[in-house]
Amino acid sequence: MPDLCGKGKTWNLLITGKPGSGKGTQASLLIQNLNIKHISTGEIFRREMQSDSELGRQVKTLVQKGELVPDPLTNAIVKKALQAKDYPHGFLLDGYPRTKDQAVMLDEMLQELKLKLDGVIQIRASDQTLLSRLAGRRVCTNCQETYHIVSHPPQVEGICDKCQHPLIQRPDDQEAAIKIRLDVYNEKTRPLLEYYQNQGLLWEINGEQDPESVYQEIIKKLGSD
Ligand code: ADP
Ligand code: AMP
Repeated sequence: MPDLCGKGKTWNLLITGKPGSGKGTQASLLIQNLNIKHISTGEIFRREMQSDSELGRQVKTLVQKGELVPDPLTNAIVKKALQAKDYPHGFLLDGYPRTKDQAVMLDEMLQELKLKLDGVIQIRASDQTLLSRLAGRRVCTNCQETYHIVSHPPQVEGICDKCQHPLIQRPDDQEAAIKIRLDVYNEKTRPLLEYYQNQGLLWEINGEQDPESVYQEIIKKLGSD
């Protein structure tokens, strides 16, 4: 395996793909093994909703319906996370950017901070695969660890292996919200693939394999960068 975290090596990455393609699953492996900061806008919104903060209350209806949170709000959250500069080995943006405006704003933020993206990981999977992954997804109400009732079940049904809190189905994994999220992806997020392709940054990854094989394919791309 290539040495991906040698002395002074940093990785500034994005992971993108349709809902349920496996972004979060791969993100967990990448942040652990590359020792980089995970910036997942979806996870930040879910935590804020869980703690019933002002921001959480502001975004709750949109997130649960499967709509996007407005760009200015989302951009401000990412800006704060990047400005913290608490990522000596780099970062992985997961689920951001999702619109052209967000991508342009991200370019501005990176320029200001004198940072560059090393690559954009696109996890590809068919709609049929996504639907069965989303229908079986369960998340921990406490630590947000993700499971699947068939491909990655917890040891005790309905209970998180890591922190023993109950697992739930995300409200936006209900059928009506999934339809909206796929439509939103096709209309607003898919065009970003061309945006990053034109910059020579896009890495297409076959997300139809088991998680370890998907991960190995990503690592191979990183090694050849
Ligand atoms: P995303 O972050 O893209 O919405 P997740 O990583 O949460 O997707 O994955 C969605 C569901 O599919 C989860 O239940 C997860 O356990 C499962 N999953 C993820 N990757 C794979 C894979 N390669 N093969 C089978 N199931 C997977
Ligand atoms: P995710 O966990 O990435 O599937 O995101 C869950 C939900 O959070 C999305 O359906 C949106 O409602 C919201 N969200 C996450 N990231 C963004 C983003 N970059 N822009 C707008 N809304 C977002």
